[in-house]
Amino acid sequence: MNRKIITIFHNEVALSKETCLCMKEKLEARGYEVHDHYSEDTDLIVCIGGDGAFLRAIHRCDFPNCPIVGVNTGHLGFFQDVLPTDLDQFIDQYESGEYNLQELNTVRAVVTTVDGHKHTHLALNEITIKGQQSYSVHFSISIGDQYIERFSGDGLILATSAGSTAYNYSVGGSIADPRLNLLQVTPIAPMNTTAYRSFTSSILLPADLSLGVVPEQPGNQIFLNNDGFENAYQNVKNIEVRVSNTSVNLIRLKGYDFWSKVKDKFL
Ligand code: NAP
Ligand code: MN
Repeated sequence: MNRKIITIFHNEVALSKETCLCMKEKLEARGYEVHDHYSEDTDLIVCIGGDGAFLRAIHRCDFPNCPIVGVNTGHLGFFQDVLPTDLDQFIDQYESGEYNLQELNTVRAVVTTVDGHKHTHLALNEITIKGQQSYSVHFSISIGDQYIERFSGDGLILATSAGSTAYNYSVGGSIADPRLNLLQVTPIAPMNTTAYRSFTSSILLPADLSLGVVPEQPGNQIFLNNDGFENAYQNVKNIEVRVSNTSVNLIRLKGYDFWSKVKDKFL
């Protein structure tokens, strides 16, 4: 039988590098082949660091299908269930199948430019749409095929449930249990005057509805950010955002509870 392949990613924090060496040694002693770069035949991805490191690993592997586990060397770590001191225990649990796979949904944006080209971006936390520097943006917003509002403000956050505790929460969005497959649309500094009217709270959309964004001035630059990766566009005709079919399978160990993590991080 072929040896199982485990790919390890880590950030540049000293503890992450140490933990990586330690994990590699332990896994090789148990007969695994350990890689430091992703290939399709990987059986498990181990990501050592914080949430940011986790997001970067997911993007580097282009949203892999195989299970992924986070080892936390950062702060609290929403995506991580393993501590650097519990590596042996984790490997035992992995081998005996003592874990659940938490399916995390993603959000997809398709940007169509005036010349008809389409560009797709995927995110695990959120997609944000903003304007240039500190200029406000003016967007026509539709839901499904229905025109809803003219949005004016700093921009929009289109968050997954898993991403609801990140940027979305900082601007007053709701915390959504990751068992809910939905799209949370959160305005950033919406203007609400007699001149400009837009929703001031988040709105929640089911997975099969898309949100359409049409910039009023297509000539203005638009910045679309997916999980912290910035993309600049000029001449945007429209942007369609919806929950994507792509999901990520996160390893959750016994004792994982979303709401306990939320309590520990925020209260
Ligand atoms: P960063 O600016 O270093 O991270 C911002 C903070 O968000 C970090 O403490 C990070 O945790 C935490 N975080 C990331 N995903 C989270 C999640 N799903 N739930 C709770 N907290 C989470 O940037 P980064 O580390 O590359 O992460 C990118 C993310 O930063 C973006 O997806 C966006 O959500 C977030 N962000 C937040 C704000 C804001 O709150 N005002 C502004 C811009 C971006 P770690 O310390 O463990 O990495
Ligand atoms: Mn970070």
